[in-house]
Amino acid sequence: MQVQNNELWSRCLDYVSERVEPKAFKTLFANISVESFDGASLVLRVSSDFICEQLDNKYSSVFATALKNSYGFVPAVSYNVVIDSNAGLERQGTTAFNTVSAPKQVTTPVEIRNPFEKQHNKITIDSNLSSEYTIDNFVLGDCNRLAYNAALAIADHPGTIFNPMFLWGASGLGKTHLVNAIGLEVQKRHPEKSVLYLSANLFMRQFVEAKMRDEVNDFIHFYQLIDVLILDDVQDFAGKTGTQNTFFHIFNHLHQSGKQVIMTCDKDPNELEGIEDRLISRFKWSLVAKMDVPDFQTRKDIIVRKAKNYGMELPQDILELIAKRVSSNVRELEGILTKLMAYSIYLKSELNVAIVEQILGPQPGSVVTEAQPIDTKISLNTIRERVCAYFNINESALQCKTRQHDVVEARQIAMYFAKKLTNDSLSVIGNAIGKKDHSTVLYSCRIVENRMSTNSEYRSKVNEIHRYLIS
Ligand code: ADP
Ligand code: MG
Repeated sequence: MQVQNNELWSRCLDYVSERVEPKAFKTLFANISVESFDGASLVLRVSSDFICEQLDNKYSSVFATALKNSYGFVPAVSYNVVIDSNAGLERQGTTAFNTVSAPKQVTTPVEIRNPFEKQHNKITIDSNLSSEYTIDNFVLGDCNRLAYNAALAIADHPGTIFNPMFLWGASGLGKTHLVNAIGLEVQKRHPEKSVLYLSANLFMRQFVEAKMRDEVNDFIHFYQLIDVLILDDVQDFAGKTGTQNTFFHIFNHLHQSGKQVIMTCDKDPNELEGIEDRLISRFKWSLVAKMDVPDFQTRKDIIVRKAKNYGMELPQDILELIAKRVSSNVRELEGILTKLMAYSIYLKSELNVAIVEQILGPQPGSVVTEAQPIDTKISLNTIRERVCAYFNINESALQCKTRQHDVVEARQIAMYFAKKLTNDSLSVIGNAIGKKDHSTVLYSCRIVENRMSTNSEYRSKVNEIHRYLIS
């Protein structure tokens, strides 16, 4: 049986040797040996994961044809990889399926290229962590309790109990924030550990670049030396088999060496499409934690915390109003707070429920497309002053002949509201806003109305200014 296996394999090698360049054959194929063949699966022993990469990518077609010619079909191929000691990594005997051996204590400096930089001699890792997304800034609630507690456990003992950690949930629920916070905590509690945060997208781009430069081996080695690898949005790996393959090797190595891997995703691993099963099964190896939409109390807590960061303290009725109206996404809550802050700066006054209602806009279900007429009397002076404040321009600029874009826009909008909200005549309006005649006022109003009917962003802006004017 063994003789027959050897014969099949050498026939396969013969086929390849006639079709690939001699140097590539010698480097990649000549030293591969067959560990086992059970009639369906072929296990090959190779001396570096670089070889797997090449066989699975660049040479996959010729290799598959060679297998088919020799075995009569294409068996499922897997590799036992034992890394070549040339790169400063010691052989450690056979490892588990498709994994690489752990780096031994390296006593002499190893020169491995960091894919974050084009050329360099030693690994200096910028962790890519954001100093804003700390654990102290993260609000705990029922929606994230499991993930939060696991985060703390990982920060204390990376690479042990919750390894890997797979955090999933809809967009804007705090996944990036929490995994970033784990990275910062590890850095604080274990300064000797190297931490790297990056998006799956960036990983993919680096991999493609490394492939183009023929540096995939260096790329893999670099990642294998990280102690805590945080990969954000792994759903972006969908359909990218080369990247998945490479990440699979890196993952296996890190996991085997007791290094922590943390991943985020916008889907439950069972619902991921375009990701290989073997990778999905790794994702589920340890902790799969879901981030849920925050409940009312947690939303209130988050608003209080974020408002404090902006230097604002909101009264209870406003807090509850926002928490009630913005319920599905923390990022959206932040957007509202930024608006509130902008308004309180423009208005130079306290916010009240009526203003916040207007900022929040209509309740879902009711549609407002245009600034509604109001009863309140408003003066030309107020319109001029507030529109200028909104655009952050000087009132005197409005009166100049300048065609600067924001001044022109401010002038048109001020005229539009002056016509709509005051009883002044067109010539009085024209004179007060830019020293123009009545036909310019009419023309400006038409422009604003036309743009509002065709451009939703512009319409929101005008509606926002309207709310500001009448507040
Ligand atoms: P995701 O990665 O799930 O899309 P992010 O982590 O980018 O979401 O969070 C979006 C915004 O919401 C961030 O600014 C983050 O700080 C904030 N956020 C989300 N959840 C929380 C929370 N529990 N406590 C504090 N801020 C949060
Ligand atoms: Mg995110």
